[in-house]
Amino acid sequence: MRVSKLYAPTLREVPAEAEIASHQLLLRAGFMRKASGGIYTYLPLGWRVIRKIEAIVREEMDDKGAQELLMPIVQPAEIWQESGRWDVYGAEMWRLKDRHSRAFCLGPTHEEMITTIVRNDVRSYRQLPINLYQIQDKFRDERRPRFGLMRSREFIMKDAYSFDKDEAGLEVSYKGMYEAYANIFKRCGLVFRPVEADSGAIGGSGSHEFMALAESGEAEIVFCDSCDYAANTEKAELHLIKAETETALDKEEVVTPDCKTIVDVCSYLKLPIEKSIKAVAYQSEKGLILCFVRGDHEVNEVKVLNTCDVLELEMASETALIEGNTVGGYMGPIGIDTNKVMVVVDQNVMEMSNLCCGANKEGYHFINVNPNKDFTPTHVADIRLIQEGDPCPHCNGKVEKARGIEVGQVFKLFTKYSEPLKATYLDENGKAKPIFMGCYGIGVSRTMAAAVEQYNDKDGIIWPKSIAPYHIVVVPVNVKDVETMEAAEDLYIKLKNAGVQVLIDDRDERPGVKFKDADLIGYPVRVVIGPKTLAENSAEVKMRKSGEVQMLTLDGDCVQKLIEMLEKID
Ligand SMILES: [Zn+2]
Repeated sequence: MRVSKLYAPTLREVPAEAEIASHQLLLRAGFMRKASGGIYTYLPLGWRVIRKIEAIVREEMDDKGAQELLMPIVQPAEIWQESGRWDVYGAEMWRLKDRHSRAFCLGPTHEEMITTIVRNDVRSYRQLPINLYQIQDKFRDERRPRFGLMRSREFIMKDAYSFDKDEAGLEVSYKGMYEAYANIFKRCGLVFRPVEADSGAIGGSGSHEFMALAESGEAEIVFCDSCDYAANTEKAELHLIKAETETALDKEEVVTPDCKTIVDVCSYLKLPIEKSIKAVAYQSEKGLILCFVRGDHEVNEVKVLNTCDVLELEMASETALIEGNTVGGYMGPIGIDTNKVMVVVDQNVMEMSNLCCGANKEGYHFINVNPNKDFTPTHVADIRLIQEGDPCPHCNGKVEKARGIEVGQVFKLFTKYSEPLKATYLDENGKAKPIFMGCYGIGVSRTMAAAVEQYNDKDGIIWPKSIAPYHIVVVPVNVKDVETMEAAEDLYIKLKNAGVQVLIDDRDERPGVKFKDADLIGYPVRVVIGPKTLAENSAEVKMRKSGEVQMLTLDGDCVQKLIEMLEKID
């Protein structure tokens, strides 16, 4: 390819709306252009990277016996009504109507679509297992699309769905996909960790996310300093902390004027913070939820959502608190009518004795509260948010925190979709049974952005070789110099004929401009030819990643030598 013909319009300025490196650099280096908030065109260089990621994905998926198909983007409302998700999916689902006023959506995911296909065609256990996948655009109408390809409204995803006879089969399919994903992200050059994840809106249980580690990542993960344990912070389980047993005293109401925070109360009452209960109040579609954790702990909202089986939590208003017979700053679990209000208590609180908590009236707290004696919660569960330094749930190590970009996720769905959608098969005895399903997603466009987040410097992108748009750019310093151009063209043609993905920057531009563009776009290898190098019958080879520069003699072996250099880098 000739750079004079390449459609890769680079920008000198950092686009104002771009906050993170991948967003800035993919725009600046001419890989993509914005069409609307969270909607992008992939320009030729960006599309080459996407196609390379897709090729890796296809190879690894096919290797595990998965088969590619292509489902429609536009999906009829009926199948979503059948699964029960049409009404619960919320504003993220991009809904539309056809000319006959029939309702459709732009697919945010394809569980319903694939399940309704398979249920009509699969009859017998002999046809299972099956694993089907597609690479296609997905649509989610994000409230606030941002960070370029990280949180966009239209994005490219690989989604796969496995169908098995039973849980043992699902286990095998899941493990296969987990391995394929680890291979895919490794081959894309990403630094990543598979972490235990919450299964969120899709449902089911048993899920791992593949997190590309990056400071700009939206997800927070914890990992153990001594074993392989890693989890999304919102999922990370916590063991019960054994509290010392004490003689339970009788609870007593005490005056605590102007003590609105847990720290105020404990210092006023001269109690250690671990002897107090902290309250957090949420409003949900099932009404008011009062959550209680130890004074020095934090509430994990995802655990609360799962424990209470609700879809949304908002901070409760003063009015809602008053209706629930409590008051902000003085909330406690004693005397709350659990027929009207959910009282959710962290497992650790139930172990403690002689505690302090709010008395549900302005200016008063209780002391010497003993959970098992003094109140009855709606739910006792692990609702605590893991903190750095907490003990690992699997070993004696401690957990550390890091940030990550979710590039893939694998889910065990069990029969969550096959039951409502009636996807069954006949077993060996002719008995109808629901199919066990798994679903497996990779954010293809997000993987491109994650690679840029991990590999960039002040000059631009540093592509891992496996997904770089081209591998080598040959730069003649002056296109008007006949000798220079002859040598550059000669090397370019030879590399091209040898099957190398090579460009020649034949633009009539200053060398500085060409070098800047080469660095910005991030080709792994740059080869410069000019009168100075030709005086020594050589070219200057520079590695983008290491910055290493070496001279290459332009003899009969030079193409082979360049190919060898290329093979050595990642
Ligand atoms: Zn551990």
